[in-house]
Amino acid sequence: MTKSDSSRALQTRIIHPQDDLTPGFESFAAPVTRASTVVFPDLASVRALDWRNDAQWRYGLHATPTSAMLQKRIAEIEGGEYALLQPSGLSSISNVYFGLLKSGDDVLIPDNVYSPNRDHGDWLARDFGLTARYYDPMIGAGIAELIQPNTKLIWVEAPGSVTMEVSDVRAITAAARARNVVTAIDNTWSAGLAFKPFEHGIDISVQALTKYQSGGSDVLMGATITADRDLYLKLKAARMRLGIGVSVDDCSLVLRALPSMKARFEAHDRTALGLAGWLKTRPEIAAMLHPAFEDCPGHEFYKRDFTGAGGLFSVVFDERYSAAQIDTFCESLELFALGWSWGGAHSLAMPYDVGSMRTAASWPHRGTLVRFYIGLEEEADLRADIERALARLAEKASTPE
Ligand SMILES: *Cc1c(COP(=O)(O)O)cnc(C)c1O
Repeated sequence: MTKSDSSRALQTRIIHPQDDLTPGFESFAAPVTRASTVVFPDLASVRALDWRNDAQWRYGLHATPTSAMLQKRIAEIEGGEYALLQPSGLSSISNVYFGLLKSGDDVLIPDNVYSPNRDHGDWLARDFGLTARYYDPMIGAGIAELIQPNTKLIWVEAPGSVTMEVSDVRAITAAARARNVVTAIDNTWSAGLAFKPFEHGIDISVQALTKYQSGGSDVLMGATITADRDLYLKLKAARMRLGIGVSVDDCSLVLRALPSMKARFEAHDRTALGLAGWLKTRPEIAAMLHPAFEDCPGHEFYKRDFTGAGGLFSVVFDERYSAAQIDTFCESLELFALGWSWGGAHSLAMPYDVGSMRTAASWPHRGTLVRFYIGLEEEADLRADIERALARLAEKASTPE
């Protein structure tokens, strides 16, 4: 086994980890340890079981060496101490809610949050006796005024996965800490590479490993990561009670993709920056919602806190184009597929009706928003594809109604 050296860069440590799950056998691949039953050497070992002790193996649902290896790797990338795996990013979000909240509690959710998170909060508010309130993602230190005695959790999503506002995470976590409120971030956009949540006061980070970590558009998985042992145990207890586990085959696919994640992320980032810079100059585009560009609310916090952007950004089309015309634009793209779950090699595009997705912060734009995910195709081909679809938009615009 290669000896890991903490003086080496994260990227090097991910490729040269320290685990030794199969003594006497060495390869670069992660061994797949499949189990429901875990066999104990004697009853004393059974009676010594303590669910808090990660050095003990209890039951295949909770962990096997393969899933534990992935948990460790994900915690390291995120900059936390403990990671737990769930079978989807949404299930990780749900694990946070069930781990931390009970009826009577209040949760604050940013208006730009991943829509199924919003739906989850609304569901708990409707059927489980919580209150879920939404806040303007650009609220910053103003969040302090929204914190009530029963507020137990504040979600952050920076940038928001559709509208891309970058919150002032430090101001929000400072206000939350002053009142002992836990903060959780959905950090999927940055893959845990370009934003290190625990350096900015965040308590729990969620990653949809479905995205860049899997990289293949074929695995669903999520993770909750924290540096706080008490929070970790709360999340772990809820995970056990809810019967949450993941497939070790899926874990091995993610483990296989992690060493290339940084290189992929940087390639997505480069191509996306190139295309966004070009798109911004196009007369069809009214606003470039890429955090690295000044049009994007919170650009200053992106510059302060992030080291890169990956492949996901949005544009707002000029309001002279109808929603139907923008649908035609999206459908005219050949290399951009219509679909969710970015993070793989293939580019995607999707129009959104943002007005209908928000309740707390007014949306300043009148044109239609299209979110692009820039895959690993050649930039020139993607640009030609968008150019052709924009030309069709112009043809349609000049056709008398
Ligand atoms: C995709 C995504 C999720 C959910 O991940 P699934 O594995 O699809 O459930 C959560 N948050 C963000 C920001 C995402 O993009």
